[in-house]
Amino acid sequence: MRRFSPATINEWIQLTGEVNNLERGVQLLNVLVINAGSSSLKYQLVSIERNKAIAKGLCERVGSKQSTHKHGLDENEVVIDTYLPDHRAAIDCVLDTLVNGDDAPIRSLNEIDAVGHRIVQGGSYFDHSVIIDDDVIEKIDELSELAPLHNKAALSGVRACMDAMPDVPHVAVFDTSFFQSLPPKAYMYPLPYELCKKYHIRKYGAHGTSHRYIARRAARLLDESLEDLKMITCHLGNGCSMAAIDHGAAVDTSMGLTPLDGLMMGSRCGSIDPAIVPFIMDHEHLTTDQVNELMNKQSGLLGISGVSNDLRSVRNEAEKGNERALLAYDMYSNSVKKYIGQYIAVMAGVDAIVLTAGVGENCQKMRRMIFSGLQPLGIVLDEEKNRQRGFERIISTDDSHVRICVIPTNEEYMIAHDTYDLVHKNSQIMVCSQDGPSL
Ligand code: ADP
Repeated sequence: MRRFSPATINEWIQLTGEVNNLERGVQLLNVLVINAGSSSLKYQLVSIERNKAIAKGLCERVGSKQSTHKHGLDENEVVIDTYLPDHRAAIDCVLDTLVNGDDAPIRSLNEIDAVGHRIVQGGSYFDHSVIIDDDVIEKIDELSELAPLHNKAALSGVRACMDAMPDVPHVAVFDTSFFQSLPPKAYMYPLPYELCKKYHIRKYGAHGTSHRYIARRAARLLDESLEDLKMITCHLGNGCSMAAIDHGAAVDTSMGLTPLDGLMMGSRCGSIDPAIVPFIMDHEHLTTDQVNELMNKQSGLLGISGVSNDLRSVRNEAEKGNERALLAYDMYSNSVKKYIGQYIAVMAGVDAIVLTAGVGENCQKMRRMIFSGLQPLGIVLDEEKNRQRGFERIISTDDSHVRICVIPTNEEYMIAHDTYDLVHKNSQIMVCSQDGPSL
């Protein structure tokens, strides 16, 4: 029987920040993490023993005749053209590759001990991850109204996985659950109260798994308890969101009823004067679908620069003197700066600001612009440390009152961790192990 070694336990705890039930002698898990989007399906097989992903991949253009399946770790990645008519076909293809592909990491599906599914919208039902049963499936389905593309796709992934692996526990990890701690003054919108109640209109937030992960990791990096810190976490990628985390609990976040709210993003506008929406619809004769498309796909960095939704391309153009690209760059950094100010006020101070995702982790120029001029607030970026690349790091000066940290996000590990934790807590793995020869 496979068992944890003390070294593995230490590494796992280092990585995830805390593990409630991990102890010597517990049976090992390979956790399959599934992230099903509307036309894509990302996955990782995480070995808890080895404390890393042992396989990963991405199916794209699911539902089209030109589907592709990328599979493999880093330099060993291969891309296979295939036809994946739906998520069920994608799951079958992934499972077959994991067992029968070149360098297959496992010999049989019995070596997958649990499956963690990323679910975008958990509404007000879920303030933590849960083991999936019929009731959970019904609620995720009901919440599709709030995230039509995402929840339906995730459910197809869940159903296909449950059919292929009926004997292992499946866990739902929600993007929204971390923000269920928001107080009503933060999550309510000042619209007619009855309407808000009737349609469940409120702030749900997004990227919660990422914010939760980087907050824990940053506390470890700072060698302090999360419960002693006031933190502002910034997930700056194509999609961008920020959160105010007061002594471990999220008290505000920038994304709202949908992931369109808040910061300026790659192609999303973020918060704008709501009166602009009917104004543009009237003047441009747009339908609701068209205006939605405009705000989600044609705005943000892309809309302002006219160059791209990708910050690297915008930066290159800005460096050549393209004024619209420069403006887009300026607006993006200013948008982050304004939320820092808001959240300092919301928490009456801040101890650490944590950055992650493509832009937050990699773009030293954007970080410089975000923090420039914030010295009077006790936030001082160290230019030299900001230039350095690396894993988890502190990039503020030694005497900066507020610490600035860069933490590469790892939502898959957080999902694997939640899955392990829940499954272990419920001892379901012991029941399953009686059927599975590998356990
Ligand atoms: P998402 O997962 O939301 O699609 P990512 O977290 O991958 O997005 O972030 C993508 C963004 O990160 C893009 O705008 C890209 O230009 C930017 N990015 C990635 N690497 C760098 C880099 N080295 N310098 C500047 N921007 C970068």
